[in-house]
Amino acid sequence: MIIDAHAHFINREIIKNRVKDPEFLKTFQNPSIEEGRKMWLEAMDKNGIEKTVFIALDAGNEDFLKFIESSDRFIGTTNVNPIEEDAVKKLEADIKRGCKGLKLFATSSGFDVGDERAYSVYEYCEKNEIPIVIHFGVTIGRTSDLDLGNPLRLSKVVSRFPKLKFIIAHFGAGFFKEALLLMYKNENVYFDTSGTNNWLEYSPFGWTLKDLFRISLNAIGSKRILFGTDSHRMSEGYRENILKEQMEIVKELAGEEGVEDIFYNNAKKVFGI
Ligand SMILES: [Zn+2]
Repeated sequence: MIIDAHAHFINREIIKNRVKDPEFLKTFQNPSIEEGRKMWLEAMDKNGIEKTVFIALDAGNEDFLKFIESSDRFIGTTNVNPIEEDAVKKLEADIKRGCKGLKLFATSSGFDVGDERAYSVYEYCEKNEIPIVIHFGVTIGRTSDLDLGNPLRLSKVVSRFPKLKFIIAHFGAGFFKEALLLMYKNENVYFDTSGTNNWLEYSPFGWTLKDLFRISLNAIGSKRILFGTDSHRMSEGYRENILKEQMEIVKELAGEEGVEDIFYNNAKKVFGI
């Protein structure tokens, strides 16, 4: 069986706080919770996915929380801006509703992950064993502040909170080298492999997806890499192509044991599911 450690369920109610143009919002996909549940369970059954971790776009979103509650195969995360004063309160409310992780959007929410005002969120997460998924690097939002997207901004934090698990999404989305440096001696930092990884088109080193896996496996082994697809559009369906491509690469480079770690065991352990 497989765990997809990074996907989204999105409808207009869930994305409304992130879309500023109301006309654009009207054109956005708008599945009901029941439609989303059905589509996701079908796709998961078809692809041998036991559980999927859904990345939240904000905290306290009733539609998102109800979607998560609609199946025990759906694992939720929440999202806060950790330097805001009520961040811990918002985080705790969603954890009480069953969310198992926290997502931080360093660049698009516009905060520095090393800011000490975020430490109370990190303390809460460490104490309650809540892993933190962070999107560093390039994003779809052109207005995002890339300067805040460097994983090295987390350097003081990962050593200050050694029991807190950080998952860097999309192999660092451009900051692959920096993310790997952060992982040196810091066993609490992980990669997720999710998405198209089309940031590779901007790699000056000519890396391929297979190179990312090969370099990561050499540096950190198979226990700190979590498979994900970043599937998010109903119209596009489940990203089977990403699953197939990554599965083939991992089988070749790391064998069956590597597949079991990256596609199942690691996510199970990190999210406690
Ligand atoms: Zn995502």
